[in-house]
Formats: sequence, structure tokens, C-alpha cells
Amino acid sequence: MEIKTVVAGDCGTNCYLLSGEDFAIIIDPGARDVRISDFAHQNLQKPNKAILLTHCHFDHIGAVNTIKSIWNCPVIIGEQEIEGLKNPNINFSAYWGDEVISIIADKGVAEGDILKIGSFEARVLHTPGHTAGSVCYLIENILFSGDTLFNMSIGRTDLPTGSYDTEIASLKRLLSLDENTTVYSGHGPETTILYEKTHNTYIKEF
Ligand SMILES: [Zn+2]
Repeated sequence: MEIKTVVAGDCGTNCYLLSGEDFAIIIDPGARDVRISDFAHQNLQKPNKAILLTHCHFDHIGAVNTIKSIWNCPVIIGEQEIEGLKNPNINFSAYWGDEVISIIADKGVAEGDILKIGSFEARVLHTPGHTAGSVCYLIENILFSGDTLFNMSIGRTDLPTGSYDTEIASLKRLLSLDENTTVYSGHGPETTILYEKTHNTYIKEF
């Protein structure tokens, strides 16, 4: 699997472009960006395509409708984020960002679900805290952590449906993953579980 990172939009959100022989997947297309739409066009012929979202916030979903119009593919998100994806007051596009965004999810996922998209296979980890329905996607020893875990930090927990205690519980859970797991976060550089165990001050507290 090839992984490309595009930092898109005013919030510097990481969008991940994944491709394999029979699939192409975009994780968190946060803002319209020619590099993301070029990837969509280049992979138009792949038989299996999808948009995966880690949570519903505006800075992670800004190009979803654009990509969906190119790919006509399913939009997949944690089941507790489906309402927020549709509701601009919950995804904050009513207040922040360039435009009001409302998206209908095609599929909601929950803890333990195995997503199979062609030869692509990911396990869904429900990791509430930044939002109630935040999920991470685990592909072998690669984790897409959204705003649950950043390199040496965590996502904010002061927004609606956020919870600091729940976030810390989710972090503890992520620590149980293989130490060699590479973590691709929603913002900032990539990291590993091992590095976070020793450098993340939120994790050091317990
Ligand atoms: Zn967020």
C-alpha cells in the first residue's frame, strides 16, 4: 500500500491518500486541494474506492462532496458522527471554515468492525474523547488516529461531545497496540506508539 500525505486547508489538516493494486482510499479530505482531486482522477479506474473519516469536524470533511462527485464512492464514518456530518452546527462549518457543509454518510462503523475495500482491510477502533464518535483505522501496524492522538499531543476535548477523561481512556487503549505501530495523525508529523509512550506528556501522566 502506498501512502501519500497532503496537508490541506487553513487548519493544516492531514489528508491521507492510500492506494493499492485494486483500491484507492482517501482519509479525511479536509479541504479542496488540487493534489487531492488529482489523486481522485488518477485513481478513477480502481475498482474499489472509499472516503474514510475519523470524525465529523469541518476541517476533516471540506472536500468530501467534491471527491464523492468524482468517485461516486461510499463515505464512511463512526456511527455516532453521522448526525454531526450532516449538521453544520455540530461539524462547526456553520461557524468556521469557508462554507457550510452537510454530508450524508453512506456507512457508519463501530468498534471492532473490519472494513474490507477490495484487498484493503482496516480494523475500526472506537476512540471517543475528541468527539464521542471518533474512530481510528488500523491497517496491520499503521494507525490513522485522526484527532485522538498527535505527535506529542492530543486533540482538544472542550468542544461539544468531547471529554478529557474519555480521551485519556482512549489513549491508554492505543498504547496497547504494538509499539512499532506507525501513527498518522489528523494534524502534525507522523509518530509511533513507542515514541508517544516516552514523549507524549498526556500519556506520561498515567
Ligand atoms: Zn476535530
